[in-house]
Amino acid sequence: MGGIRRYFPILFLLLCVPQGYAEIELFNLLDEVEATLQWEPMRKIGVIVKGRDCLVFKPGFPWVIHNYNKKIAAGQITIENGALIFSETAEKIVRTIFSEAKEGRGPRIAAVLLDPGHGGRDPGTIGVHKAGDNNLKLIEKDIVLKVAKIVYKLLKLNYPDKKILLTRSDDSYPTLEERVEMANRVSLGENEAIIFLSVHANASLNKNASGFEVWYLPPEYRRTVIDKETLESEPEEIIPILNTMLEEEYTVESIILARQILDRMEEKIGNRSVNRGLKEETWYVVRNAKMPSVLVEIGFVTNREDAMLLADSGYLKELGEGIYNGVADFIEYFESTKGFTEQ
Ligand SMILES: [Zn+2]
Repeated sequence: MGGIRRYFPILFLLLCVPQGYAEIELFNLLDEVEATLQWEPMRKIGVIVKGRDCLVFKPGFPWVIHNYNKKIAAGQITIENGALIFSETAEKIVRTIFSEAKEGRGPRIAAVLLDPGHGGRDPGTIGVHKAGDNNLKLIEKDIVLKVAKIVYKLLKLNYPDKKILLTRSDDSYPTLEERVEMANRVSLGENEAIIFLSVHANASLNKNASGFEVWYLPPEYRRTVIDKETLESEPEEIIPILNTMLEEEYTVESIILARQILDRMEEKIGNRSVNRGLKEETWYVVRNAKMPSVLVEIGFVTNREDAMLLADSGYLKELGEGIYNGVADFIEYFESTKGFTEQ
């Protein structure tokens, strides 16, 4: 697929730079470092983009913002006779960030946070079925913990250099706010990304409802992904632009991640359980994690066939392997395409 910037919603307008300026001509500089300018004429805000790196500036303000969160003093940036004029400091920053030297270094997934739903006083959904002389009782919090631990072990084993985390590893109950906090608190280096994966089991009054599905946040849902405190003294109008850009990025990544997990679950368990497809929903944890995030529903505890499967540890192992394979596909794809910016 092409670069994710294809989804960028702002109208682009290239400004003409007259010849003969003594100051730095932005367009020659951009040619040189092979970056492009996206200009928002209404609010007079520019975004220089190359791969996943972006630099936001607004003429009249003496700094630039690198990758949504890093504010750098940049001297004067002005518009004179319709031309964008960069100070020498600003030029140096553009060169440093977008120069060839950075070409080989793509972003990496540095952390995966697995979130088994419910726990402790919150059992989640419960299914009880007659099985011979005994009752088969399925409690969501227990099954999803088992599955999350299977995925956790596989990720730990295969990605020893990544942080693999669980929001809970026993029968405890972190609140939804605490889970999101955990995700947003993971410290990342420059050019590092994290993904969030919540695991749940389904229930329905319709005992026939069965199967697995993967949810992501609908693209039209607005959320605040920018850390406003970091950018406190920015002019207000820059925040929504940065927020939209980052949000688009997370949405595209969440859909890709959801699709890859669903496909690999299908491969492992599609012969026994129904593939209900991708869904859009504004789950609390998915909505508030400032990163690509998806929610997997592994099956219906209220459906007899699903319940029998979910009670079988061999089946849970395969299910966990399917989810793991999807995450591994995403990591591989993300890192080999420099965060989906290359073919
Ligand atoms: Zn649940």
